[in-house]
Amino acid sequence: MHFIDVIIPIPLQKLFTYSITAAEADFLKVGMRVAVPFGKSKIYTGIVYGIHENAPSAYEAKDIQQILDESPVVNEYQLKLWNWISEYYMCTLGDVMRASLPRAFILESETVITKNNVKTIDESILKDDEFLVYEALNHQSSLKIHDISSILDKKNVLSVIKRLIEKEVITVEEEVYEKYKPKLVRYVKLDTHFTAEVELHKLLDDLSRAPKQRDVVMTLFSISAKTKKPVKVTDLTTESGASSSIIKSLIDKGVLKEYYIQRDRVEYSGEETEASKRLNEYQKTALTEIKASFEKHHVTLLHGVTSSGKTEVYVKLIEDVLQQGKQVLYLLPEIALTTQLVTRLQNYFGEQVAVFHSKYSTHERVEVWNNVLHNSAKARIVLGARSSIFLPFNNLGLIIVDEEHEQSFKQFDPAPRYHARDTAAVLAHMHKAKTLLGSATPSLESYFNARQNKYGFVEITKRYNDVLMPDIELVDIKDKLKKKRMKGHFSDRLIEEMQETLSEGHQIILFQNRRGFSPIVECNTCGHSPQCPNCDVSLTYHQYRNQLRCHYCGYNSAMKQNCEACGGQDLDNKGFGTEQIEEEVKLLFPEHKVARMDLDTTRGKYGYEKIITALEQQEIDILVGTQMLTKGLDFRNVKLVGIMNADNMLNFPDFRAHERSFQLMQQVSGRAGRTEERGKVLIQTYNPYHNILQQVSTNNYIDMFKEQMNDRYNFKYPPVYKQIKITLKHKDYNRVETASIWFAKSLRQVFKDNVLGPESPPVARIRNQFHKNILVKIPKQQSLAKTKEAIIKINNSFMSVKDFRSVRVILNVDNF
Ligand code: ADP
Ligand code: ZN
Repeated sequence: MHFIDVIIPIPLQKLFTYSITAAEADFLKVGMRVAVPFGKSKIYTGIVYGIHENAPSAYEAKDIQQILDESPVVNEYQLKLWNWISEYYMCTLGDVMRASLPRAFILESETVITKNNVKTIDESILKDDEFLVYEALNHQSSLKIHDISSILDKKNVLSVIKRLIEKEVITVEEEVYEKYKPKLVRYVKLDTHFTAEVELHKLLDDLSRAPKQRDVVMTLFSISAKTKKPVKVTDLTTESGASSSIIKSLIDKGVLKEYYIQRDRVEYSGEETEASKRLNEYQKTALTEIKASFEKHHVTLLHGVTSSGKTEVYVKLIEDVLQQGKQVLYLLPEIALTTQLVTRLQNYFGEQVAVFHSKYSTHERVEVWNNVLHNSAKARIVLGARSSIFLPFNNLGLIIVDEEHEQSFKQFDPAPRYHARDTAAVLAHMHKAKTLLGSATPSLESYFNARQNKYGFVEITKRYNDVLMPDIELVDIKDKLKKKRMKGHFSDRLIEEMQETLSEGHQIILFQNRRGFSPIVECNTCGHSPQCPNCDVSLTYHQYRNQLRCHYCGYNSAMKQNCEACGGQDLDNKGFGTEQIEEEVKLLFPEHKVARMDLDTTRGKYGYEKIITALEQQEIDILVGTQMLTKGLDFRNVKLVGIMNADNMLNFPDFRAHERSFQLMQQVSGRAGRTEERGKVLIQTYNPYHNILQQVSTNNYIDMFKEQMNDRYNFKYPPVYKQIKITLKHKDYNRVETASIWFAKSLRQVFKDNVLGPESPPVARIRNQFHKNILVKIPKQQSLAKTKEAIIKINNSFMSVKDFRSVRVILNVDNF
């Protein structure tokens, strides 16, 4: 008796055991995929987790249906990491599996039913329900289980199908197919028969009566002599000018042989690589210090001001690791993964750089996956966003987490709710590799860890080439309003600086923290503003489409002419977004080119790239944008950065609002003046004496850190305390309220005052589900593992209460 334990991509806590034959046991290895039956009629792709001889005691093991791989697609490191993620982030292995594997690896199973055409059917033997299915198959070539369900209007149709099979009316085929089809390129070569000189001469003689065919053969020779590589059919047709029918006739004659080679989609087409740059003394010192720090620490934080040349330091570290024959993972926030950086690295490392990106197709991801799995020369350096920590590395030497402070490293939905930076450190450790975190504005937790000596710490305080840090000026818009020195959202100071910058031929970036024209439409007569029907938020006005949209669920409707509540026509656009700023700039500077960068203008694979390129090529004078602008971009000619309104960031209801505002403003400021000329930054605010603004304007990270840490101590927030957020969701408000009170009460019995809530979040209803949040704060000395155990226990008793079973519970560890 042989068995395997299998991970199935569904959110159930345990592994499932299936029985296999001795031959299968011999063949199977941990990490291979198998198709397994599950429940009544479902088939899933599972990953083999263990092979053993112990029959399960609680149920009878079913047989597997099929083995899907010849060798493992998932390696032991990954399974170890999946385990860690599922334990640390309190989710199932199935959740992690679903997040890890390219979608194409998770097979789809659909039962397809067709009419049995071999036999003539005596309709009189069919019962009513059987006849209905038979009739349907006379009109449609195939049906799926759910089609039959709806034809018969009942759920359980397997018995009908079974009877129809027995009467040989239908046939059933289980169609398990893979979505991934590698892109194949067609090649031709001369049949080996003609490689002998004698045969070749004979062939060319024979072909003298078919000059076009002879031409094709001659062209084939010249191409392969020139390139010394396999010859693509497309190259052959273009070079010889022959039609595809001529080539086909040569193939039919047996002169040419066609064959296919799988082509990798993510291709590097560059020429030679260039040598990496010589580091300046600050970079050199940093490099030496990082190497020394790696001797003592698994993780090291590099705090280097914007434009200090961190990337060039990474490059040197990468060179070292490649030399040792190891792999490098270079993690970046999705949005910072620009062609600018990819090109820069490809210039140094050529085709060894692979990119893993959410905008890539599933085909492209499978190719990167396989290249990493086989430790191919094409994927020695993987440049990727959050999810690239799931790739099948087998020989990692270094992980770089650039812009480590970025929130987008954390996945909020769905599970696994992991933080890629923290998971990366664990992954690196498993490979006995090192992790380097880099940022100009480190997260409080990383800086804290460095101060506690948990992480190593290295600094670069000078910009490369001694470019000065930008000159930051705070503009008091309350005062400007009083003195009537505002035009729309622009102070006279900002307009002055813009005029000067433009007259010198430099470019400008304007940062506005919101997309859309203006977040809220409000009736000036009755104060009503249009609400999303599914969520408890006001709709946002988008001028570009003249639409009202919900940023939570995507609901949209045409902009209203009249107030829905009172019918009044005086509708006001409160607040302001990127679209409105863009409009105002166009009016202020009609002779200049203005563009906007936000979620709406950057959809599509190259949307973002196009705008960046236009800015680089100086086709844009003034760029208005959101957060997207902050990410590690390097523009030579941008001299002025304007932050339209600092207050809406600072007032955001979140314990990290101040830290984030500091990071955001420093990062945006870092876009100004990256060459010899000193950049200028203007920050408009109602509150110029706010400590964070003072710290931003003096570039004082340490003061910011100390002051924020003080708050974190006082209010028991991370990184001083750990925290787990528990969210309950239900469409019925009363039910979620009762449930959350029950849950919080049970938690309080264990964790006393360290439980906050339940509370309704600022947006209490999303997609028609009411939300309640409970926060568990965990002091440093309290065991995290025990805390989780207690929460799981409470959750299990919660689930056993009949009324609560339909309430969704979401556990989010390190939810910030
Ligand atoms: P950071 O990542 O710290 O913001 P970058 O690595 O992007 O900084 O460097 C800023 C600019 O300085 C880039 O244009 C880069 O090419 C240039 N640079 C940095 N280091 C060197 C060097 N050692 N030699 C030449 N140019 C450099
Ligand atoms: Zn909505």
